[in-house]
Amino acid sequence: MALIKCENVSIGYEGQTVVKDLNFTIEHGDYLCIVGENGSGKSTLVKSLLGLKSVERGKIIYGDGLKQTQIGYLPQQTDVQKDFPASVGEVVLSGRLNSRGMRPFYTGADRKEAAEKMEMLGIQDLAKQCFRDLSGGQKQRVLLARALCATKSMLLLDEPVTGLDPIVTAEFYQLIRRINRESKIAVVMVSHDIESAVEDASHILHLQESMLFFGTAEDYRRSSVGRKFLGGGADV
Ligand code: ADP
Repeated sequence: MALIKCENVSIGYEGQTVVKDLNFTIEHGDYLCIVGENGSGKSTLVKSLLGLKSVERGKIIYGDGLKQTQIGYLPQQTDVQKDFPASVGEVVLSGRLNSRGMRPFYTGADRKEAAEKMEMLGIQDLAKQCFRDLSGGQKQRVLLARALCATKSMLLLDEPVTGLDPIVTAEFYQLIRRINRESKIAVVMVSHDIESAVEDASHILHLQESMLFFGTAEDYRRSSVGRKFLGGGADV
């Protein structure tokens, strides 16, 4: 059974439909990149997948034991987040809050989970540092560790490399690939970077009012949509 199945989904704001007729599935271990121009509805879809925004029409069906609150979410960067006045350890630990309901305290298991994820991402030495003093790349690793604390099966990343330099971006993509392959966690990433998306992702969802394309990255490369957006040289 698919982790997420979207059936004829339309989403909008106050009667103004933003995206319509979405039909796609996300299976266990998939790496889906959602691409499309600014304003094509990518973030709106992300909000609906997280259950933060209801759909106008159609259904989003969660399967394979996945609950909306157990999706590890790395939001688009905001200035508020960048200046978050907490330690790295606290930021990572806060990823545990959503997944097991509201509790006023953390358990030993929560702390163990947070420590494991920090080690996995090589940020354990930063645990006591203040989040706002970190570099952009370090911040994204911390927020990734936080998102991993919230899930066992799916990460949802909204434009995670915005503002990062090319080397740090490449490292971040590599990390995501590793998590996807080694931990078998499905990755859903909103991206502007179609070239890298096609390189790394197993599936592509291209939005433009409706669904321009949904399928494997390989089929996307060969499709007329893919060829158009990847430029002339993509005919492989
Ligand atoms: P993308 O993430 O692809 O850039 P968005 O999902 O942010 O696109 O936006 C899609 C459309 O929805 C845009 O036309 C945008 O103006 C509109 N929109 C986004 N958020 C809101 C909101 N809170 N209220 C009304 N319209 C919105």
